[in-house]
Amino acid sequence: MIEKTGNPYYNLFQKQKSNQFNVANSAYNQRITKLNALQRAIEVTFRDEIKEALKKDLAKPELESEMTEIYQIVGEIKHAKTYLHQWMRNKKVRTPLSMLGSKSYIKYEAKGVCLIISPWNFPFNLTFGPLVSAIAAGNTAIVKPSEMTPHSSALMKKIVTTVFHEDEVALVEGEVQTSTDLLKLPFNHIFFTGSPMVGKIIMKAAAEHLASVTLELGGKSPTLVDKTANLKTAAKKIMWGKFMNCGQICVSPDYAIVDEQIKDKFINECKAWLKTFYGDNVETSDSYGRIVTPKHYKRLMAHLEDAKSNSATIYSSSEADEASKYISPTLVSDLKEDATLLQDEIFGPILPIVTYKTLEEAIAYINDKERPLALYAYSKSKKNIRAILNNTRAGGTCINNNVIHYANHNLPFGGINNSGIGKSHGYYGFKAFSNERAVVEQQTYGIAELLFPPYTNYKEKLAR
Ligand code: NAD
Repeated sequence: MIEKTGNPYYNLFQKQKSNQFNVANSAYNQRITKLNALQRAIEVTFRDEIKEALKKDLAKPELESEMTEIYQIVGEIKHAKTYLHQWMRNKKVRTPLSMLGSKSYIKYEAKGVCLIISPWNFPFNLTFGPLVSAIAAGNTAIVKPSEMTPHSSALMKKIVTTVFHEDEVALVEGEVQTSTDLLKLPFNHIFFTGSPMVGKIIMKAAAEHLASVTLELGGKSPTLVDKTANLKTAAKKIMWGKFMNCGQICVSPDYAIVDEQIKDKFINECKAWLKTFYGDNVETSDSYGRIVTPKHYKRLMAHLEDAKSNSATIYSSSEADEASKYISPTLVSDLKEDATLLQDEIFGPILPIVTYKTLEEAIAYINDKERPLALYAYSKSKKNIRAILNNTRAGGTCINNNVIHYANHNLPFGGINNSGIGKSHGYYGFKAFSNERAVVEQQTYGIAELLFPPYTNYKEKLAR
């Protein structure tokens, strides 16, 4: 349906715009009621349907659906419910003497009508996670999930329609054109999760209306392993972090950068853990997922072809099956620097392993690439850990682990430059969807009035 401005979402936007102050002025208890309703829908009413949709879209193992989707969203809701009262309160700040007679505070108020655009790799988590923050902060929101996971997207539509009125939260399904139409509307805040390339399109569109943005993007997250590291546990955690969701995770270790002295031992440990995790025949393992679409399957196979044609060493039979979009967990080493696996974000079950001679060289290699969403370091050396933290930049870091910083709601989550702008989760998500309004409230006479015009004899006035 094309409406009067030619934009199919104009009327929906207007409905939310008209309702925005009702939602913004909703009391703490009303917001808690909404969060409870969303929690009940995810944790109880639609729990089985969520796992079914994820199985259909991504062949996601049930435990991964529980752990990385349901548990994460419910955790975000519970965290918001615990702290919302505190977050919503005006925050008093000191008032300078020159403003004697006044009090100053920060009022956390909803930004207004928000747009949330989400990707396919954790469809529920990355759609409902930001929505929790938007609701907590008192916004209305239009949500546009990814078209790549249609079963999840259809179910999310059902959940949103069941839980919310469309003048407070609405979900629209669609492809790029849907985003393009939505982006023409003057949203007060846009929260986007996806690739850096599309992130730039979003930021340009936001500039038309000077909408604020949170961009949760991706990139190549390095995993550094030095020779002091416990290789057995490092390999175990890296194999878990890399091959969960078939490597389709924004904070997945994109490549490993290991001291050349431990390379062979590290690779052997990795191979042993892969066997423990997925058995001899990974294809039949119920703990291993699939690639989301044929297009992404072909993209990943092209990376492997490029690596093979450059005589890289591939440490697995790199089995693949186009019909089921299956690619086995694959380790690759001896790549030339211009190999596509070392240039583009991989977002799939392939781990390139590069080596370094000195820590300085490893740090320089990392800093030569775009700033990553995550950087992981495995080391027992406090000196090395300090050197890595002080001489690199990343959205987040785990020392002697990977991925898990995402799950701590007390930490800000987000990237830096190419990997993102702004932060999400918990208080940081609430802040992303809030305007921190600076308020000075004066009840009586203010000392500054002494300096009002006329300016003649101002020295005498001040001396009085
Ligand atoms: P994507 O950028 O292709 O798509 C994300 C969303 O943007 C989808 O809803 C899609 O429909 C929409 N979109 C696509 N092209 C568009 C265009 N031209 N104009 C407007 N909207 C458009 O990303 P994806 O493939 O869904 O997800 C993978 C990427 O997302 C990876 O780069 C990954 O690292 C990143 N990611 C980041 C996070 C994070 O929290 N930082 C989480 C998950 C994924």
